[in-house]
Amino acid sequence: MLTGKCQCGAIRYEAEGEPAYSAICHCADCRASSGAPMVGWALFPQERVTIHGTPMQYGSSENATRHFCGTCGTGLFYTNPVIFPGAIDIQTATLDDANALPPQAHVQMAEAAPWMGSAHGLPKFDRYPNMP
Ligand SMILES: [Zn+2]
Ligand SMILES: [Zn+2]
Repeated sequence: MLTGKCQCGAIRYEAEGEPAYSAICHCADCRASSGAPMVGWALFPQERVTIHGTPMQYGSSENATRHFCGTCGTGLFYTNPVIFPGAIDIQTATLDDANALPPQAHVQMAEAAPWMGSAHGLPKFDRYPNMP
C-alpha cells in the first residue's frame, strides 16, 4: 500500500498495487500547472486509489482535469477519460516514500524545456554555491 499527501496534509491518499507506469512528464501543461520544469506521475486504476479530503479541480485542457489542494496548492492527481479511461495519475513527488516509484521513462519530450537534455551535466551543490 502506497500512501501520500499534499504538503499541508489536508488531502491524503492510498494506492494499492503497482502502477501502469512511473514517468517524468515534460509537457507544457504540466510545466504551467506546477510552476516547475517537469512533473513525476504514476498511473493507477481509479478503483485502487482512495482519496481522503476534497481536492480542488481545474480543467487544464479539453479533457484533462488536474486535482490539487486548495489550501497549500500541491498538485496531486490528473484524470483524463479520453487518454486514461478509468485511471488516475498521481504526482509521485507527493508519495510519503520518495523512493517508492522511481521513474522508468521521460515522456512528452517533444515539449521539454530546450535546456533539459543537458540539465544533469550542470554543476551540483549539496545546498547552494557560496555567493561572492
Ligand atoms: Zn494541502
Ligand atoms: Zn504532462
